[in-house]
Amino acid sequence: EPVPVEVLLHRVTERFSLLAFQSNIQFITKLSDTGVWIQIDRDRIEQAIDNIISNALKYTPSGGKITVDARMDESKEWVMLTISDTGSGIDPRELPHIFERFYRVDLSRARQLGGSGLGLSIAKEIIEAHGGTIRATSARNEGTAFVIGLPVCEGEIEDEHA
Ligand code: ATP
Ligand code: MG
Repeated sequence: EPVPVEVLLHRVTERFSLLAFQSNIQFITKLSDTGVWIQIDRDRIEQAIDNIISNALKYTPSGGKITVDARMDESKEWVMLTISDTGSGIDPRELPHIFERFYRVDLSRARQLGGSGLGLSIAKEIIEAHGGTIRATSARNEGTAFVIGLPVCEGEIEDEHA
């Protein structure tokens, strides 16, 4: 179904602002381009985004910050959703593996926090099934950023929310 990016961001805010607040993590959403629609299975894409934001919450200590930014790329053919955190970061040697099934970085913190190592592999699968892309950049002890690219809807769409 066609979904405006602002609806997606609004719903992310609804689901995560209280959780972030309770963990003393600043949660910011930024919409840099308005009126952009994407053709998605909303439940699935929300699951993918939730997996990434849940990680950000899990691996960011109290006092940190999570930012979700949505903007179009230069070609205006893609919506780029960036989810960045000020958490533990991921070692450059581990980074190429994080989208593999059951892969977990073997830090005592990750062991304590638990999880099965499936969240990111599921997110990647969902995003690629939409013709999208996902990549991560990270620096140890500085934080991590995930960038999701999703194709913008082609043609005119009647704005039923107007
Ligand atoms: P699950 O999501 O199945 O509960 P998980 O969170 O360990 O378990 P993934 O979501 O697939 O698994 O993430 C894989 C690994 O990547 C994590 O175990 C963690 O080590 C690392 N990781 C993912 N996101 C972040 C992040 N935002 N900051 C630091 N490390 C991260
Ligand atoms: Mg996870």
